[in-house]
Amino acid sequence: MITEILRIDPDDIDESVIERAAEYIKKGELVAFPTETVYGLGGDAMDPGASKRIYAAKGRPSDNPLIIHIAETDSLSEIGEDIPKAAYDLAEAFWPGPMTLIVKKKAIVPYETTGGLDTVAVRLPSHPVARALIKKSERFIAAPSANTSGRPSPTKASHVIEDMDGRIACIIDGGAVDIGLESTIIDLTEEVPTILRPGAINLAMVREVTGEAAMDPGLKSEDEHIRPKAPGMRYRHYAPRGRLTIIEGDRQAVISRIKDSCDECKNAGQKVAVIASSETAKNYSGYRVFDIGALSHEEEIAKNLYDILRRLDEEDIEEIYSESFNTPNVGTAIMNRLLKAAGHRVISV
Ligand code: AMP
Ligand code: MG
Repeated sequence: MITEILRIDPDDIDESVIERAAEYIKKGELVAFPTETVYGLGGDAMDPGASKRIYAAKGRPSDNPLIIHIAETDSLSEIGEDIPKAAYDLAEAFWPGPMTLIVKKKAIVPYETTGGLDTVAVRLPSHPVARALIKKSERFIAAPSANTSGRPSPTKASHVIEDMDGRIACIIDGGAVDIGLESTIIDLTEEVPTILRPGAINLAMVREVTGEAAMDPGLKSEDEHIRPKAPGMRYRHYAPRGRLTIIEGDRQAVISRIKDSCDECKNAGQKVAVIASSETAKNYSGYRVFDIGALSHEEEIAKNLYDILRRLDEEDIEEIYSESFNTPNVGTAIMNRLLKAAGHRVISV
């Protein structure tokens, strides 16, 4: 298949590009498009054939459900059933934006899209290209991240091209995304609203709206019997080919431990790299350093993480040592992804 690549300026949308991409969606074909979180791989959510094509293009296990993207809050009640008030309150507060709500599904939503579940994930994105495409195609768009399953989610069109060229009908290149981490997923089918995947909307922000809210205990558990509720959070994800280790603790102790480990690797003839904050990166001169962004601008760290994980593979890095980035607002989401990428290998110093 030849993949058509269409460029667009999100601040000055060319309607003819949106029309062309919408035609593919209407025909049941797949279109990758930018959202404010990461690039999505979109298909008609009500067309089981399109859903199957999404799983095939990504190599995604078919029990891992897709998020349905809508362009108006009113569409939530066309897809979901028994929707609690908390869902509407959260929608009012954070839509359009990086938040996905899990509610009971209506019968019209195919099980191919929900991975066989009776619940459905719904999001109203804020990105102008995403919203224009949903509206123009007159469909709800099922869109997981547009990466090959297991790889980091794409935050630039070049990442999508790496993974999807030749596998899908069309890629809309709208430049780099804004947030760089996937949406916060909130389950509203439990007594207490529960975060199944941390994102830019954090627990404190959710609690401000709903009063009570919890984190899925499966996210943190070392016990493999307590598994994350979101099927996608159970899979190996984001991991670079090299071995990634997170070093945490007092700043100076972390720096010297990382330098010692790098020296050991160099002596053993291994290709080694460091992931460091802008504040500390200069301490690693002489080593291959990826500056992930400033701790004082934590959004930068979120935005750069997946690009760095991809670049580590491009450079065939064998051993990677990363600082910890437990920043106040997006830190939980950043560390959730980094810990998965590291296979939970952490050394405290
Ligand atoms: P992605 O679209 O690639 O960001 O992945 C979607 C995420 O949403 C995965 O982790 C899914 O397991 C999760 N998800 C989608 N639908 C549901 C649902 N009905 N219940 C729980 N998790 C869901
Ligand atoms: Mg994904």
